[in-house]
Amino acid sequence: MNQEDRMSKRLETEVWALDNCAGCGLCVAACSKQVLHWAGDDHPVLEKRMKTVGYTKVPLDSCSFCQKFCEEACPRLVRWAPIEARVMVSASARGPVKSGAPNDVIRSILVAGRSSGLLDGVVMLDLDPWELKPVARVVSTVEQIVDSVGPQYLWAPVLDSLNEAIFERGMRNVAVVGTPCASQAIRRIKESTNTRLRPYQEAIRLSVAVFCTGTYKPNVIEDILIQRMDVPRDQVKRLEISPDRKWMRAVLWDGSVRTIPRQQAESYTRPGCGSCDDYLGESADLALGTLGAPDGASTLVIRTRAGDVFVRNAVQMGL
Ligand code: SF4
Ligand code: SF4
Repeated sequence: MNQEDRMSKRLETEVWALDNCAGCGLCVAACSKQVLHWAGDDHPVLEKRMKTVGYTKVPLDSCSFCQKFCEEACPRLVRWAPIEARVMVSASARGPVKSGAPNDVIRSILVAGRSSGLLDGVVMLDLDPWELKPVARVVSTVEQIVDSVGPQYLWAPVLDSLNEAIFERGMRNVAVVGTPCASQAIRRIKESTNTRLRPYQEAIRLSVAVFCTGTYKPNVIEDILIQRMDVPRDQVKRLEISPDRKWMRAVLWDGSVRTIPRQQAESYTRPGCGSCDDYLGESADLALGTLGAPDGASTLVIRTRAGDVFVRNAVQMGL
């Protein structure tokens, strides 16, 4: 096996086989041949292609003559030191809703960014309120940002949607909102020296991470909340997980909460989260969560100049 072949197997041997995949989806987006797909596993799979030789079909190396953009993108093939925090503050949103919840503070920062032209759109983890399923979404208007629910600790490959934002919809100023591993992937692709990845590098202006102790497979909602706890599907507004991982709770639209010990949902945790040690969004421009925040506020960590610009912009706009 030559070096080229060995390189094409790094995701399979060093990430997928070790249950190390964070599920960020960036390898799928960045694959120049579009041979990586989701097929129900905890990681993407490589499409096996065949070629015809005479009267027979033989397997084709799907990755031959490729510069391995997937490996350039995968956050699980490198280890970084955290980006030092510039500022850490307690923050709450003054608009569009007055709230200290992390997703509401994120929404305010994004609304301000979109309103002032710093952003064309946002690629974000969100929740389909009808199906209660996590989705990766591209939103482009203030109304769509306001209507989004935001990350809910339910897994979806958020960076799969980058191509829609950048290549299909031509967005040039994009924010990405997701888990810390998604921000690691953004950091990875931004630091790549491969010029073919420049469209991503130039378009992504901001990465925002929510503090994270692990995400859950989407069926946790159906199996635990709806079947076991008998919570009506259309009543669930959002999920919350305690910073010490002791409980998980559903906040309902009427303001009431239903809480379960988090161990009951443990078997629904994505395997790749077991090897993650980034709780605080250490590669994100901005990271937010409830840890360390007083009631009615979030802890907001500003790590980069870009993060600083977006927060100042939101403050200036009174959001
Ligand atoms: S961590 Fe992300 S980039 Fe790496 S294999 Fe998993 S989905 Fe792909
Ligand atoms: S714990 Fe959170 S940040 Fe870490 S891999 Fe899982 S989803 Fe990503």
